[in-house]
Amino acid sequence: MYSNVYLIGFDGAGNFFKDTDTPNIDRIFENGAFSHHVLTEIPTISAQCWGSMLMGVDCEAHGLTNSIVGLRHLPDDFAIPTVFKLVREKFPDANLAAFSCWNPINYGIIEEGLNIHKDTGEDDELCEKICEFLRENDTKLLFVQFDSVDGAGHRFGYGTKGHLDQITHVDALLGKIFDTIKDSGRLDDALFIVNSDHGGTHTGGHGGDTDAEKIVSFFVRGKGIKASEFTCEIKDTAALIASAFDIDLPTVWTAKVPDIFE
Ligand SMILES: [Zn+2]
Repeated sequence: MYSNVYLIGFDGAGNFFKDTDTPNIDRIFENGAFSHHVLTEIPTISAQCWGSMLMGVDCEAHGLTNSIVGLRHLPDDFAIPTVFKLVREKFPDANLAAFSCWNPINYGIIEEGLNIHKDTGEDDELCEKICEFLRENDTKLLFVQFDSVDGAGHRFGYGTKGHLDQITHVDALLGKIFDTIKDSGRLDDALFIVNSDHGGTHTGGHGGDTDAEKIVSFFVRGKGIKASEFTCEIKDTAALIASAFDIDLPTVWTAKVPDIFE
């Protein structure tokens, strides 16, 4: 059981972390568990993948698409609960926060009415907001979606220099968030996760089922985590977070807890 869980997602980074400089990921997860072979959802599109990450089911089960989450707020009584809903039920007074550059995640994939602090902004601005928030709040569950890596992939092609350089840039933002948590004294009892929703092709697209699109990286650190390489599916992110708070997995979920504990 952990006091806090921090999930920082790099949209559109796939497993290209391994191809570029990520000094912060290197230091943060030096003794953590990692994988560059995690299967995400197909089609490899943001709403499908983030939806599965937070709802613990395959995308066919939650049915969310970019156009749905862009147009409709997620009903509070949606058949599949997000991990946020479970954490709220267990900890009625806890501080919970979602910072998504792509704002449809905040409202189309995460329930309203749960008293979750939600904010949006471009990645650099978002990072400043997150650090300020973390200095002032003991956030039990923090979710972050940075979007600029995906933007660079669409612009320059995934795996190209422009895309890889943006991963390195967002790695620096990650480092600021990590250091803020460390300085606040809330790291020792925390589970800290970095992953991605999908990758993309050299020509700047995603949605298909090539390895460049469907295979992503996943990093975890925290007490009791084996320093090891592991594998899981992207939907297992939700199960990992629920288990970190000793919450039973809902029967509608198909996610499993990754084998990363000592
Ligand atoms: Zn995406």
